[in-house]
Amino acid sequence: MESLKTKLFIISGPSGVGKGTLLNSFLEQHRDNVRLSISFTTRKPREGEIDGVNYFFTNEENFKIAIKNNEFLEWAKYSDNYYGTKEAYVYKKLSEGYNLILEIDTQGAFQVKKKIKNASLIFIMPPSIDELEKRLRGRNTETEDAIKRRMDFVKGEIENSKNFDYVIINDNINKALNELTSIFNKNIEE
Ligand code: ADP
Ligand code: 5GP
Repeated sequence: MESLKTKLFIISGPSGVGKGTLLNSFLEQHRDNVRLSISFTTRKPREGEIDGVNYFFTNEENFKIAIKNNEFLEWAKYSDNYYGTKEAYVYKKLSEGYNLILEIDTQGAFQVKKKIKNASLIFIMPPSIDELEKRLRGRNTETEDAIKRRMDFVKGEIENSKNFDYVIINDNINKALNELTSIFNKNIEE
């Protein structure tokens, strides 16, 4: 994979920090040469989520078979559900000429970096923990219990960000988008 001209970008950050919002705008501006990787998950679809668009939704049994068969470039258990990126999928997109963004958790990010050294790890940081919780609640997609479980992960995720190549603070969305764009431009030129 290292010999390909196209690059992998890993975006991680706590639930509710604004990764989806940021990536929607970024992808809109880079339709010609960037794609967002679609992960496999055992999580149930949220209202409006479509199989094969937001995720490939699967069950635990099939997910575990794919782990056994070594099909994942990376996978992780996050908040009671399994999430993973299929290696063949990533390779296909990169060889079709697309730079690929993986929006995955920090455990998965490190697994990818171990295998693909020129992947860029980008962490999206909230301006504060209070603001993060406000955004997560404001999105209205999680139950109280799910919010609590997601907030339990935040400290560990922020700790892991120390080993990332870049950290972007998502205070102002346009500023964050500009930073992401310059990181992208710098890395595809290398
Ligand atoms: P994630 O994908 O990281 O879980 P989302 O993109 O769903 O997060 O964003 C969570 C909520 O925060 C959304 O309601 C979104 O509109 C809001 N949001 C995102 N970025 C900002 C920002 N810079 N300032 C204020 N609110 C934001
Ligand atoms: P959500 O349930 O909110 O869609 O995602 C929960 C967490 O799982 C987020 O931190 C998201 O980045 C992460 N995630 C999504 N897909 C993958 C994946 O394929 N692998 C890993 N390791 N994490 C993922």
